Amino acid sequence: MVKVKLTDNYPGSMLVIDGVMLSLGDDYVDVEKSLELQHAVNSGYIEIYDDTKEVKTVDTVKEGNEVWVFAEQRNGRFARVGLEILGKARELAEKLGVKVGAVLLCEKDEGLSQELISLGADKVYVAETILLKNYETLRYTKIICDMITKEKPQIVIYGATHIGRDLAPRIAQRISTGLTADCTGLDIDEDGLLIQTRPAFGGNIMAQIKCPNHKPQMSTVRPGIMKMLDKQERNGVVVKVDVSISEDNRVKVLKVIKEAKRVANLEDAKIIVSGGRGVGSAENFRIIEELAKELGAEIGASRAVVDAGWVPKDHQVGQTGKTVRPKLYIACGISGAIQHRAGMQNSETIIAINKDPNAMIFSVADYGIVGDLNKVIPAMIEELKTSKTL
Ligand SMILES: Cc1cc2nc3c(=O)[nH]c(=O)nc-3n(C[C@H](O)[C@H](O)[C@H](O)COP(=O)(O)OP(=O)(O)OC[C@H]3O[C@@H](n4cnc5c(N)ncnc54)[C@H](O)[C@@H]3O)c2cc1C
Repeated sequence: MVKVKLTDNYPGSMLVIDGVMLSLGDDYVDVEKSLELQHAVNSGYIEIYDDTKEVKTVDTVKEGNEVWVFAEQRNGRFARVGLEILGKARELAEKLGVKVGAVLLCEKDEGLSQELISLGADKVYVAETILLKNYETLRYTKIICDMITKEKPQIVIYGATHIGRDLAPRIAQRISTGLTADCTGLDIDEDGLLIQTRPAFGGNIMAQIKCPNHKPQMSTVRPGIMKMLDKQERNGVVVKVDVSISEDNRVKVLKVIKEAKRVANLEDAKIIVSGGRGVGSAENFRIIEELAKELGAEIGASRAVVDAGWVPKDHQVGQTGKTVRPKLYIACGISGAIQHRAGMQNSETIIAINKDPNAMIFSVADYGIVGDLNKVIPAMIEELKTSKTL
């Protein structure tokens, strides 16, 4: 037996290992050593109890040395990941005994800074001008570098969005510090340094990276991993930042054209019908599409299917795909490997269709259908069509 607990790297809130349920936030529990446990440890989802580890507690909140979050917004709407990392920043700041700062660059702060305070910020640094109507790398870089140089935060976290991925490296270069991209976990070590966890070598290992010699320590974080806090009535300070940028910039946005691109929107889907290798072929994937159409669902897939080229990568659910929480997730011909379960286990209701009664997917399913999907799915489609005509 070993004592283990779920880490923040696990995208869900619950994981069953050999019949023992581990919930996020729970203390260590005893589980048998097994291959499945080893996979979960290697994936960074589970921490084994180490009695040599000393936990530091801090009870006074110091000024300065804050933990900052880049609160990305477009047209007055926040990117969700910015709000998710605000929740994580609170946890890190409490461990360090410092405040959480949010960095907001916008055309008009119409309630945006108050929203950030209600979601965990102690201070919001607001740069507000018509010149910040659209995102521009050079302007954003200059303003944030000036803020960092003046206020000296010890940690700055960005969402791994298109903007975050463009901005953070440029800032890191300007202020001569490091940057860990695409983190899936953040924590503080015994010396107060940021532990930045991210998949490496194609996701086969979880690397833990520290930046001890340069400040601030900076990371980008993948969307959907950290938990957003519930809104609360909180007090916070809004700090207006003097913006010394001119209109005379080397880059000018002439026009913003929204691309009408169809990408799978799995994160917001209420129903997902997902297909695995058991579907058999790219051609046979049409039965998954047909069932999804009948249910008004998005299409998901296992990595095996994406690797085989049956569906594009933006449909992949799991550790190296998307983390989803729909009301209904239907897994068809998916074995339920831990890397797949990591991305869908928190769905409200899970239905699994698999011809193998021992498939791991049944360990997380609310309803299991043991059978050939080529018979079960057409029967479901038929039933749905009939019920619509009644
Ligand atoms: C670092 C790393 C990261 C990974 N990331 C991901 C990830 O993000 N997402 C992911 O999905 N995987 C990921 N994987 C891969 C994962 O380990 C599995 O290999 C993959 O999920 C298997 O896909 P599958 O269930 O479709 O295929 P299989 O494991 O081959 O399962 C096929 C299932 O279909 C069933 N079946 C076959 N025929 C039928 C039929 N006619 N009717 C009903 N059932 C049938 C079989 O019983 C079987 O259970 C990752 C692996 C690694 C090492």
